[in-house]
Amino acid sequence: MKTNIEIDKGAGPCFGVQRAIGMAEGLLKEREELACLGDLIHNDEEIERLKKSGLHIISHCQLAEQSKKELLLRAHGEPPSTFRIAANFEIDLVDATCPIVKQLQKQMNEASKKMEEQNGQLILFGDLYHAEVMALKGYCRGDLHCVSKVEDLASLNSKKPTMFFSQTTKYQSDYHEIINAFRKKRVKEHASDFSLEVIDSACKQVAKRDLQLVDFLKDKEVLIFVSSRKSSNGNYLFNVGKKKVKAAYFISNPSELQKSWFKFYRKIGISGATSTPLWLLEETNLRLREMLM
Ligand code: SF4
Repeated sequence: MKTNIEIDKGAGPCFGVQRAIGMAEGLLKEREELACLGDLIHNDEEIERLKKSGLHIISHCQLAEQSKKELLLRAHGEPPSTFRIAANFEIDLVDATCPIVKQLQKQMNEASKKMEEQNGQLILFGDLYHAEVMALKGYCRGDLHCVSKVEDLASLNSKKPTMFFSQTTKYQSDYHEIINAFRKKRVKEHASDFSLEVIDSACKQVAKRDLQLVDFLKDKEVLIFVSSRKSSNGNYLFNVGKKKVKAAYFISNPSELQKSWFKFYRKIGISGATSTPLWLLEETNLRLREMLM
């Protein structure tokens, strides 16, 4: 059986992830060690690689130990409270928050003030415990309602001015589904007179990755998807991709590959999340070639 292995050209780290890794690497060239608050990005393999160069991860409850020392902030951003605590402990912050996330923090801060003035509500389509969402909450006055699925809309009041935002790594198709469901709820509850603003805040670096992945898989039988299991973007893309092939496997490391997966199918596509480094996709490609060719 002829084996064909191809890496998805659309895969690889997004601009924000590349920037954060570049900042960490640049700093580690000049010092023995560097502390980072939480995972710099959502990819364990990349974090392990940086740890070998001196990166170490600390949690929020260890901030006091960083007093008067340097601290790198992750790509997903931090709430204002982190900056206040850091100032109290005279921590020297190096902020690797993605500029697109920074922009969203600013936009949501302004939107929350506007909704407060109008007795309205701010809704975010996102994952409640995702680092980006937890940070965004800190920039909003009043309550931020977080919804991750259509069912979550049931408990919301439709009779209020409303502004909708999306977590940067959410996909437009899912966001539209939520918005359409909310519009229907408003009609049903006679609330269509209240203002509704829908802000397209999904990151353009990921907005069409699902469609690109589907296109890449057009002539593939097997998908090998490389990502950290912590990556919501990775889990989403894998679920999109697995419907398009005969077999799909989610791995975080090439050592997880098994020859038996390729007994019947040899048209193999390798793809990954926006936080998956290119070197990991290349290593997966090499391992597969050694195994099958
Ligand atoms: S997905 Fe977009 S917003 Fe998120 S880190 Fe990457 S470039 Fe920034």
